[in-house]
Amino acid sequence: MQAITTMSASSLIPTTEPRFRVPDARGRFGQFGGMYVPETLMTPLLDLTKAYDEARRDPAYQQAFADMLRDYAGRPTGLYHAESLTKHVGGARIYLKREDMLHTGAHKINNVIGQALLAIRMGKKRIIAETGAGQHGTATAAVCARFGLKCVIYMGATDMERQALNVYRMRLMGAEVRGVEAGQRTLKEAVNEAMRDWVTNVRETHYILGTAYGSHPYPMMVRDFHRIISIESKQQILRAEGRLPDAIVACVGGGSNAIGAFFEFLDEPGVRLIGVEAGGRGISKGEHAARFAGGRLGVLQGCMTNILMDGEGQIEGTHSVSAGLDYAAVGPEHSYYREKGRLEFGYATDTECLDAFQMLSRTEGIIPALESSHAIAHGVKLAASLPKEQVVIINLSGRGDKDVWSAARAMGTEIKL
Ligand SMILES: *Cc1c(COP(=O)(O)O)cnc(C)c1O
Repeated sequence: MQAITTMSASSLIPTTEPRFRVPDARGRFGQFGGMYVPETLMTPLLDLTKAYDEARRDPAYQQAFADMLRDYAGRPTGLYHAESLTKHVGGARIYLKREDMLHTGAHKINNVIGQALLAIRMGKKRIIAETGAGQHGTATAAVCARFGLKCVIYMGATDMERQALNVYRMRLMGAEVRGVEAGQRTLKEAVNEAMRDWVTNVRETHYILGTAYGSHPYPMMVRDFHRIISIESKQQILRAEGRLPDAIVACVGGGSNAIGAFFEFLDEPGVRLIGVEAGGRGISKGEHAARFAGGRLGVLQGCMTNILMDGEGQIEGTHSVSAGLDYAAVGPEHSYYREKGRLEFGYATDTECLDAFQMLSRTEGIIPALESSHAIAHGVKLAASLPKEQVVIINLSGRGDKDVWSAARAMGTEIKL
């Protein structure tokens, strides 16, 4: 009890204990990960790696991180026994880890706080970030407002139209939102623009990447900042059930909420760890974003991992009803643990996602993000197949307020104001 309500700062971010053995010194998780970037980015990335390594050994940095997570983000989040959903589904007891209750509406803020504190330590006064649906941009804009940091958010022009509300929220909090007109005008192009900006302005600028992806040290660093999810849920489930869960289910875009929810259980072989990707309209070319269902090994935007691309290395188009899962590549640590047989992966289609979105709203009065609805869809299917004595935790990565317009449209009604 005590350990959860008063967070002891010393261990929130891992330092160098042997169990945190990956990635290696070159940022590689086995054959995955690494630093596949233009030469101009090598120095800033090595500087960042060094600065992060020093920061995480500094108790003052760890304390500042713990304080902000508690007082600004609203941690710890609850581990909620979803009795009504469990009854509706029939089968294993379902618990929801309530990351949807955090400030700005999703898990993203954990990582933004960690990186913003690091940027301040490094003397950077300007922050840039990329955003797809706008959740990472919103969290970044909020934390930059709090610390008085100049904030520029890159966002594909198509995404800006689809997520006008989040664009307004970011601007309200003082961020400059720059539309990107290149290519498909979505997340991939926004990442390219952010990297270009970083090369040009690196002396005063830190790039807050929004998921467990990209060149080393980002996948490791972002994972470390989300580790708090499983530190809390492990203590909470032991208190509630007196034992570990049988399975943990989380949705996987780049992979940050999932690796955070899994991390403390990686060494517990009795706990199944299951990632859920976006199955879109089904597993055929251009219709989904399930990298483990249709991808191959390659390099994109800094790292080697599983990617949706053709034989010539051309990145394929992707589709998902949820913008946050709609990306052609998956974080390298997921590829690594899948290859080792530690992580399992499945996918949920758009239709299954929308069914789960409505099911959780109706049974529990909790409107999940469309991203998180993928985890719900897969998690309830799993729970239904298991005996009542078993326990399944679903990571509820974010709330669905941002999605009501697009969900309504996808289900055939327009919300008129
Ligand atoms: C961004 C987002 C995701 C996907 O990102 P990950 O890095 O895979 O966690 C999932 N859920 C919500 C609510 C998000 O905002």
